[in-house]
This record gives sequence, structure tokens and C-alpha cells, in this order.
Amino acid sequence: MPELPEVETVRRGLASVMEGGTIARAEVRRPDLRWPFPDGMAARLTGQGVRAIRRRSKYILIDLASGESLLVHLGMSGRMTISGDPLGKFVHDHPTRVAHDHVVWDMADGTRVTFNDARRFGAMDLLPTGDETAHPLLAKLGPEPLGNAFNEEVLIKAFQNRNTPVKSALLDQRIVAGLGNIYVCEALFRAGISPTRKAGKIGKSRVASLVPIIRDVLTEAIEAGGSSLRDYRQADGELGYFQHSFAVYGQEGQPCTRDGCTGTVKRIVQSGRSSFYCAQCQR
Ligand code: ZN
Repeated sequence: MPELPEVETVRRGLASVMEGGTIARAEVRRPDLRWPFPDGMAARLTGQGVRAIRRRSKYILIDLASGESLLVHLGMSGRMTISGDPLGKFVHDHPTRVAHDHVVWDMADGTRVTFNDARRFGAMDLLPTGDETAHPLLAKLGPEPLGNAFNEEVLIKAFQNRNTPVKSALLDQRIVAGLGNIYVCEALFRAGISPTRKAGKIGKSRVASLVPIIRDVLTEAIEAGGSSLRDYRQADGELGYFQHSFAVYGQEGQPCTRDGCTGTVKRIVQSGRSSFYCAQCQR
């Protein structure tokens, strides 16, 4: 499932071929994903210039010359693929249409962007540019973890008297927007905090330490995504999914990598989702 760094990588990839360009033709091949597509979506996209491509949490916003923005959520399995050979920049031929290619944008310069979503938990909607803070999917989101509104004071306040495990608190999109299972596990490992510890019982300085750690974990992943982006012209044109090296996520049974720790990475289930951590050095 794409998390913030993957979505940011997709955003950058789309921006590189769409910003400043024109969607010559939009094709919508089914009536819905998770929810119905907005009325007349293909017609409202066709012929539109793309002003900018932004991101809020795990949502991509494509600002159109019409004054509307297309909101895109990749869901569980949504994938964006770039094909075509505009100006010799990319070497991918347009692939044969395959199952689950639900939305296709042909840019005026010959680039094609294809949205494929096998599980159809993705979503798209059109809204007036600038109105996104009122959109039901975005209205309740907390601060961006890489923005100034997310800081030590805000996180300490959000954790105060909170009786839920810190893992759940960091996954709560009202506290901080865009964090998912993988990067919460990695951030808690770096901070040396057990995912089972109650958020309200963690000392203020340890809570504060999470802020720069969360930023680092996300920034490093975005940088890794950036390098995958440079490689995508050699691969299959798909954006956003890249190889990571995780310290704890998916590392059950592996020795802890913290200097001097002799522990082993454990997997437990919290609120139906796996948490990976070292019980020896995360307290
Ligand atoms: Zn350890």
C-alpha cells in the first residue's frame, strides 16, 4: 500500500510529464473505483492544461486550467504508469491495454499516463481548486509531517492523556497526516520507543524526539523514491514503488541493527496490523 513517500514519488513523476502540458484526451473505462467517478470526468479533463500537481497527505491534486482540481487517491493497489516517447525522453511504448487499466490520459506531447487499480480501493474526484480543505476526504486531516504545522509542541499536546498505544496515535490521520504502518514502525525503532507504549505515558522529550525522526524517515524514503524515479525510464514506466531497506519493517526474526543491541525483531499485531520492533531496545 503506498504511503506518503510513494505518493510523493508518484506526484513528482506525474509532474515531470504533465505540469505545463495539456491533457489531449482522457478516457475513463468504468463508472467507479471505490466510489463513482465525478459526472462527466473524461469531458472535464479533456483539453485541460495542467497548472500544477500538489500533494496533501496521501492524496494527489492535479490543478487544471478550468479552475478544477482532480483529487487522486491510489488506495491499496493503484499504480500510475508513464508510456510514450515525447521528445525522446522515455523509451516505453504504450503497453497493450491490460485488465484494471481504468483511466488513461493522453497528453498533447504523446505521453500517456495510465491508472491501473486491481483492487479498486482508489478514488478520484473533481473539486474547485482551493476548496480541498473542505473536501470530506481531506477536511479532518492533521498537519503534514514535513510541514511547519507539525512540530514538537503539537505532538506533545496530541499525545497528552492519550490512552492508546503510540503506534495507533501516530497512525491517527488527525494527529499527523500521511503516516502509515511502515514508516511508523521505522520511526518508533529510531526513537527507541515501543509501539505498545501508551502515548500519554511517554515523556515529553521522547515525544519531541519523534518529530525530527519522522521527518528524517520520510525524507530518506522520498530521496530513495527520487532515485527510483531517475531509473524508471529503464524499467517499465511505473511510478512510486521502490526498493527500501527497512530496519524493522518486515524484518521479523532478524537481529536488531542498533549498535550494541543483541535483540531480535519481533512482530506483533495491534489493531489488526503488524507492528515490527525490538523489545530489547524499544521501551
Ligand atoms: Zn534492539
